[in-house]
Amino acid sequence: MSLLEDKGVNTTPISKLGEFGLIDHLTKNIEIKNTSSVKGIGDDAAVIDMGERYQLVSTDLLVEGVHFDLSYMPLKHLGYKSVAVNVSDICAMNGAAKQITVGLAMSNRFTVEALDELYEGIKLACAHYGVDLVGGDTTSSTAGLMISVTVLGEVEKESIVYRSGAKVNDLVVCTGDLGAAYLGLQLLNREKEMFKENPTMQPDLTGNDYVLRRQLKPEAGVKYIDILKELEIVPTSMIDISDGLSSEVLHLAKSSNVGITIHEDKIPVDYTAMNLANEFNMNPIFCALSGGEDYELLFTVSQAHYDKLKKDADFTIVGYVTDASEGNNFIANDGSSHPLTAQGWDAMKK
Ligand code: ADP
Ligand code: MG
Repeated sequence: MSLLEDKGVNTTPISKLGEFGLIDHLTKNIEIKNTSSVKGIGDDAAVIDMGERYQLVSTDLLVEGVHFDLSYMPLKHLGYKSVAVNVSDICAMNGAAKQITVGLAMSNRFTVEALDELYEGIKLACAHYGVDLVGGDTTSSTAGLMISVTVLGEVEKESIVYRSGAKVNDLVVCTGDLGAAYLGLQLLNREKEMFKENPTMQPDLTGNDYVLRRQLKPEAGVKYIDILKELEIVPTSMIDISDGLSSEVLHLAKSSNVGITIHEDKIPVDYTAMNLANEFNMNPIFCALSGGEDYELLFTVSQAHYDKLKKDADFTIVGYVTDASEGNNFIANDGSSHPLTAQGWDAMKK
């Protein structure tokens, strides 16, 4: 019997585990053999002891039809995004990205000119982030395009930040604003549907530059890492917000064995995103909690840094760390408290 077919006897559909459950399942008995492997699976990047510094390694795979739709994602933007999302994972360790390798699989539907465009975006991102493209692999696929980028980064040993260091009473801080990338995606989907019904119609995207940029050309939080360094702040824990605020809060809480409470009225949402959410009849806070792809950073810091953070508009204090026994909570604007659930965007359940 093929392992790939579900004949109903002792087989488990992947959807039963979900993306994170599947990773846990596949990796639960993996043992670290080399003392240089400081941190394996379970953070935004693996950590390798290189003597004077730590090296950071992370991989992200983008698949056509799952992570991007080429009917509205220009290939140049896709190339840029595939690098930016990897650099973001290095930022989440408080590190600096240095090299990438690029794995590419494409069907014969793609022309050389199309792949040139993809590489223009990749090269632009490499220039922007000061990263060298040092290798990769190229092969064909039976359907669609897949891009797998592996990033290598560096961090001083005393500056490394894991998901696991949050302490009770720490402040919970997020950078920039949230929900806009998801709203950008809703807008692009709406215009695509309208175009399918009436191909002569030109898409109306005016006034929505910000949300579109957030979806099509996200940036890694390098500037926030630089600001934290200037402010002499080393967060106690950190993660990048790729799957929505709630999912990332739960990751930090679980890894650090603490509880986290966040406040609805503190969650930063850009005003154009807010307006668009209203137009879509969506709750903008839902978009921030469960949308994803904002690639902001979520971190915890000692309260001693309150004054420094408060002065900087790049950072918003969205909550605080509690004992694990208090669980993870969302305090709504009316003061009511709700358990926070992982409705982070999960590619596999969709
Ligand atoms: P991120 O969203 O930060 O990219 P993921 O949620 O994709 O992180 O992955 C969580 C952890 O699981 C990471 O440490 C990652 O390296 C690891 N991981 C993901 N997929 C696999 C896999 N197929 N085999 C081994 N480790 C994996
Ligand atoms: Mg990450």
